[in-house]
Amino acid sequence: MQIEILYCGVCHSDLHYTRNEWSDGMPAVYPAVPGHEIVGRVVAVGKNVKKFKEGDIAAVGCMVMSCRTCVNCKAGEEQYCNNEWTLTYGSSDHILGGTTYGGYSDAITVDQNYVLRIPNGLDPAGAAPLLCAGITTYSPLHHWGVKKGQKVGIVGLGGLGHMGVKFAKGLGANVVLFTTSPGKSADAVRLGADEVVISKNADEMAKHANSFDFILDAVSADHDMNAYLNLLKLDGTLTLVGAPEKPLSVKAFNLLMKRRRLAGSAIGGIRETQEMLDFCAEKGIVADIEKINIDYINAAYERLLKSDVKYRFVIDMESLKKS
Ligand code: NAP
Ligand code: ZN
Ligand code: ZN
Repeated sequence: MQIEILYCGVCHSDLHYTRNEWSDGMPAVYPAVPGHEIVGRVVAVGKNVKKFKEGDIAAVGCMVMSCRTCVNCKAGEEQYCNNEWTLTYGSSDHILGGTTYGGYSDAITVDQNYVLRIPNGLDPAGAAPLLCAGITTYSPLHHWGVKKGQKVGIVGLGGLGHMGVKFAKGLGANVVLFTTSPGKSADAVRLGADEVVISKNADEMAKHANSFDFILDAVSADHDMNAYLNLLKLDGTLTLVGAPEKPLSVKAFNLLMKRRRLAGSAIGGIRETQEMLDFCAEKGIVADIEKINIDYINAAYERLLKSDVKYRFVIDMESLKKS
């Protein structure tokens, strides 16, 4: 089915990828068209498309195909497909050949099984970031069973982090936001944080030692994981969703003591993504966005590098037609 793209969110992964910062894991293929937070209007459907019709508002996230036969695909965890997995951009295109191109574009054609429905009532521009920032934070909070009364940390108030705060609060957790940007404190509280810690302040960090059930680390750049591992209580888990360019160093004793766990998580499955969108519609949750035109994209990337995003850039694709 073909979708005319209305909005596409700007994920820090787009920046990592286009600048080839993930050269040893996911090397960039040029020319590259990034963008995996896509919301648009269905403009054409093939004869076998039953789930959507022309005119529907539909969405595409980080993947557009998987094998559908491996154990993970069958379990609805297509993001962990053991075989041929096709990312929205930068993957081998098993249907057309060549490389897949993402959402900084006017249109995209995707198999109906990898297209999401945007429920009525969700603002399409604000919903776009849910397709990556949303599901990437919703999925681990659910997988690790975050619940009412637990103490949960979110590290980094960017695109992912601000969704993490909203979801963790929605689950009833006691949410502590860790930031390097003191200027974001008031926003963090408005978004749902019960407490804000300036992570550069060692005394403030020390007050929280051995106290967290769960910490979600959504930082895009090199930083000290040990400072956060030390904040976990017995059997606590630190889950990494940020994907910095350089390897992270972990002191063994910070894991051994208190039997702590360090884990990772990548986006979420299609079924879970739809569940998250429906949940957001029910609760009125969308991303806090700054709408931009396509010709602002390089400036937006520079602002991402300065942690100056409130809290997701979303490209209005109408601007592509005009540029
Ligand atoms: P973003 O909007 O740029 O936010 C990143 C935040 O990290 C910044 O706003 C800043 O928050 C903090 N930060 C930046 N540099 C830092 C540093 N040197 N030390 C400590 N904190 C720093 O990025 P995003 O789009 O949310 O993405 C975050 C990361 O997740 C990226 O690496 C991205 O590639 C990755 N990602 C992973 C998945 C997945 O499936 N696992 C999916 C999407 C994205 P403060 O100002 O609050 O400190
Ligand atoms: Zn992303
Ligand atoms: Zn598979």
